[in-house]
Amino acid sequence: MNSEPPTGDNSNDRQDTKTDPAGRLIILSGPSGVGKTTVLKQLFATCTLPLVESVSATTRPQRPGETEGKSYFFLTDAQFQERRANGQFLECVEVFGRGFWYGTLKQTVTSGLEAGNWILLEVDVEGCQRVLEFYPDAITIFIHPGSREELERRLRGRGTESEEILTRRLEVAQRELDASENYQHIVVNQSVEQTAADICNILQKAEN
Ligand code: 5GP
Repeated sequence: MNSEPPTGDNSNDRQDTKTDPAGRLIILSGPSGVGKTTVLKQLFATCTLPLVESVSATTRPQRPGETEGKSYFFLTDAQFQERRANGQFLECVEVFGRGFWYGTLKQTVTSGLEAGNWILLEVDVEGCQRVLEFYPDAITIFIHPGSREELERRLRGRGTESEEILTRRLEVAQRELDASENYQHIVVNQSVEQTAADICNILQKAEN
């Protein structure tokens, strides 16, 4: 809970966000448990584009193996709401009803794009819609588990959540699967290597 996320743009004015950045913005979504983290690790290790993952802020507790400032900026509710009130988020949502908050910091995205990087945002389907309002040229990719049954198997196998949270995540997951058709690209995650290669391919095509 220690390191502070970058601050900077405190404006609530939507007009201040650039729509013609030097870099590219990639929005990646997929239900919790679909394997996004593993796929992204593989993508960053193998794809030659200047990809940079945007670090989000969240109020959810840190899981074993997660690193502050790398996996997320882990904030208290008060810290998160202060940044929200100051207009520091490009988008933020309470992903699980009365559960935890997640948000993309404006500063992380704008500075990365200005540096010419390809900034990858991992956000939920609602976050994707909000980001598209600011960056309509973003590339949108949905990682799909193949079926709801497969997703439940993977989520239970991870064993990091209580039954109550798991049930809520599955409800949210179903809504996310329903929204997948709004994405430009849907990639079914059957093998980590193949999925990462497919995403890299999509991005390379977008480069030309
Ligand atoms: P997890 O708790 O498993 O890390 O993430 C849960 C969900 O939150 C995932 O669907 C993930 O894509 C979403 N998420 C993570 N960061 C952000 C963010 O900054 N904004 C939004 N809208 N969703 C996020």
